[in-house]
Amino acid sequence: MDQNELLEIRKEIISVAREMQDIGLIVRTWGNISSRVDKDHFLITPSGIRYEDLTPEMIVLVNIHDLSYEGEYKPSSESKVHAVAYRVRKDAEFIVHTHQVYASCAGTLGHKKIYSYFDDEDIVIPVAPYALPGTQKLADNVARTLKKYKDNNGIIMANHGTLCLGADSREAVREAEILEAACNDYLIDVCKIDMTHGVEVGYNSHLEDGQIVYDIADNPERVKMIHNQIYTKRPNVTHIIHNKSEAVMTVSRRANHMKPLLDDFAQLIGVGVKIPNNEDEIYHNIKKNVNVIFAQNDGAYCVGSSEEDAMAVAMVLDKGCIAYMAVMRNGEGHYLSLFECLKMNRHYRKSYSKLADLNK
Ligand SMILES: [Zn+2]
Repeated sequence: MDQNELLEIRKEIISVAREMQDIGLIVRTWGNISSRVDKDHFLITPSGIRYEDLTPEMIVLVNIHDLSYEGEYKPSSESKVHAVAYRVRKDAEFIVHTHQVYASCAGTLGHKKIYSYFDDEDIVIPVAPYALPGTQKLADNVARTLKKYKDNNGIIMANHGTLCLGADSREAVREAEILEAACNDYLIDVCKIDMTHGVEVGYNSHLEDGQIVYDIADNPERVKMIHNQIYTKRPNVTHIIHNKSEAVMTVSRRANHMKPLLDDFAQLIGVGVKIPNNEDEIYHNIKKNVNVIFAQNDGAYCVGSSEEDAMAVAMVLDKGCIAYMAVMRNGEGHYLSLFECLKMNRHYRKSYSKLADLNK
C-alpha cells in the first residue's frame, strides 16, 4: 500500500472517531478505532490523545503479529485486542472499541450473553469474560469469544465496553449503534432501568487565585461547607462538579457503598465510594484517590484538577450508577475484585500524571 492510500485510511479513522464522538458512543480519549491495512498491519488511534486533537500522522501503523509499531506515537494500549480480532476474524477490515453506556452496563450483569432485539429481530450479544485491560488474558478472552460466535460482529467486553467489527467503517459503527439500542432495551425490559445518561449540574465551583468561585451566586451554607472541606483536604483539586443526574440521585438515596462494576470507574473514581447517612459522614468520605464525594439524597460532588477532569469523573460516575442500579434490579452482577481495582487505579494515576507532565 502506498503512502497516499495510507493517508486516506488515517483520515478515515479520524473522521470515524469524530462521528462516534458526535453520536455519543465515544467520549474523551476512551475507546479506539482501527483499520486493517494489509495482511500484516493495521492502523490504530494513538494512546492518550483527545480525538479533537488528532492529525493523520498520529495514527499508528502496528504489526498484527508482534504489535511492533513505527513512529513517535504510542498505539492505544488496547492494540492487543484489535490484533487478535484481525487474526481470528479475517472478514474484519475495521474495528471500533467503545466504552458506550448501555452496552457496558449490560456487561456488568454477569451474563454470558445478552438476549435482546433490534428492528423486531431477536439478537444475541456475546459477552467476553473479564480480564484486566491491556493484558494477554483479555486478548485471549476476546479471541475465544469472536471465534465461537463467528456470525457476530459485535461483542461486549465484560465490565469494560464493546468491540465492533465490520467489512468497512460503516458496518463497524452501525454495529456499535445496534448494540447500544439493544442493550438499552434490555436494561429497560429486564432490569426496569430507563435512565438517560449525562450530567445534571447542581452546585459547581472552582478555585481562582485560591478563592472558591461558585457558578451560582446563592449557595446554601451546608453546600459551601462541603466545597470548603474538599478544597482543604484535597490540595490538587481545583474544580468541583455537583452531579444530580437521575442515576446519581437514585444511588445517593438508596445505596450505602459502591464497588466498581466498570474499569473506568476503578480508574477515574477510585476503588470504592461510600454514600453517607448524615451530613457529618460526608466530610469523612473526602479522601485521597477517591474523586467522588456523595451527599445523602443530594447527588455527588465530582472533583478534578481541571474542569475537563471533573466532568470526566461526573460522566463515568453517572454510567457507574446506571450499572449499579441495573445490577441491583437484576439481582446479580459481576463486581471487579479489590486487587483488580487497586492495580488499575494505581496504573491509571501513574500513567495519567506522566501524560499530564508531557502536555505541560
Ligand atoms: Zn477500553
